[in-house]
Amino acid sequence: MPAMPFDTVLIANRGEIALRILHACRLLGLKAVCVYSDADRDAPYLPLADASVCIGPAAPSASYLNIEAILMAADVTGAQAVHPGYGFLSESAAFADAVNDSGRIFIGPSGDCIRTMGDKVAAKRAMMKADVPCVPGPDNELPDDMDEVDRIASQIGYPVIIKAAGGGGGRGMRIVQTPGELRSAVMIAREEASRFFASPAIYMEKFLERPRHVEVQVLCDNHGNVVWLGDRDCSIQRRHQKIIEEAPAPGIDRSKIADLGARCAAACQQIGYSGAGTFEFLYENGSFYFIEMNTRLQVEHPVTEMVTGVDIVAEQLRIALDQKLSVRQEQVVTTGHSVECRINAEDAFTFMPVPGKISALTLPGGPGIRIDTHLQQGYRIPATYDSLIAKVITHGRSREEAIDRMRGALRQFRIEGLSCNAALHAELLEDKGFIAGGVDVHYLERFLESRA
Ligand code: ADP
Repeated sequence: MPAMPFDTVLIANRGEIALRILHACRLLGLKAVCVYSDADRDAPYLPLADASVCIGPAAPSASYLNIEAILMAADVTGAQAVHPGYGFLSESAAFADAVNDSGRIFIGPSGDCIRTMGDKVAAKRAMMKADVPCVPGPDNELPDDMDEVDRIASQIGYPVIIKAAGGGGGRGMRIVQTPGELRSAVMIAREEASRFFASPAIYMEKFLERPRHVEVQVLCDNHGNVVWLGDRDCSIQRRHQKIIEEAPAPGIDRSKIADLGARCAAACQQIGYSGAGTFEFLYENGSFYFIEMNTRLQVEHPVTEMVTGVDIVAEQLRIALDQKLSVRQEQVVTTGHSVECRINAEDAFTFMPVPGKISALTLPGGPGIRIDTHLQQGYRIPATYDSLIAKVITHGRSREEAIDRMRGALRQFRIEGLSCNAALHAELLEDKGFIAGGVDVHYLERFLESRA
């Protein structure tokens, strides 16, 4: 047996996902190193790690985004591999390159793959070439010539959307309803793209008015094996932030999903992808339109784990260990339905994050209920980071059963000392539109307006 490529993983992240990755390391008999900022020195998961290293002050730029500090932490602890989690440096090609150049293993795809997919125009071009269905519009950035831009827009047909090639996090997009608004929209979009993103390039595509968000999870090893693990529906969003996710997407013809999944898997082979990834699509009037690929683990990965039984994080580690995927496509079976509610520490009305100390905590349990969280009674949630504090995930034989178990789980969930959005979830779970399934990405905003 050749020696394992690594036995110690540095987890370059925090919060619930740091703990999730730590569990996967344990499962595979790997040692885990946690890093933390000054604001996270009391994080409940740190004592569970084999080692933990402070990498700087609370500000993410000084700690969780500080490549040098993270590599130093890997140095002093002897970690030979780095898991980036989601957010922070997880989609930084420079980080992937820096980890690999330091002689360590970045748990994810190559820097080049991340770079291509991080440029939405390049990603769209690669997907069109691979026969993955895309939103109508050219796979080139917009030219400077405004007459030409005019022609492109009328060819696509209004409304159109202008997006920054290097955009992310739902920012850098402008919807244009009529030709009269086009010029100023292009100017503002260009200006914003050069100010906020790595590239000033912008591109244009058809604006879909009532789409759903449906995505496909893939896993690729370094031996040419690719599987797609079904689909997720993440249409319940507020300001492009997902709130509830489920698998599979309700009411969509399974043969269409199977065709889409096979195309995603083939595209992975074409672009030489390695690791876990997600193809995000808009779905409208029975058709799918690729919008972007996320080259990392996603927050909502548990719903896929619940319906397929595949441990996605453990697979990521196996892939990085140069092992083959533990599952072949014909073994991937989707059983029942799974729902995830993201519990955010935020004000119930303003949605502003609220930090605070947890004075009492009761986590739900029972058949078909999974909680991914790093919370503990007495823990003070820092103000600096994302407000996600727990994910409540349920599984049932049917969508109804999964939703019903979620209702029960949320009734058991009790957190004191700070406010969170559990009540909003409970309300949504009783909503006729949500119960019927298949709502579009603007549904939650309309729901919130109607009760305001
Ligand atoms: P980001 O990387 O910033 O998340 P995406 O390309 O994934 O950007 O788009 C974010 C969201 O913007 C989508 O989930 C969708 O709600 C909306 N959006 C993006 N492109 C379109 C489009 N062509 N038509 C309608 N909505 C779109």
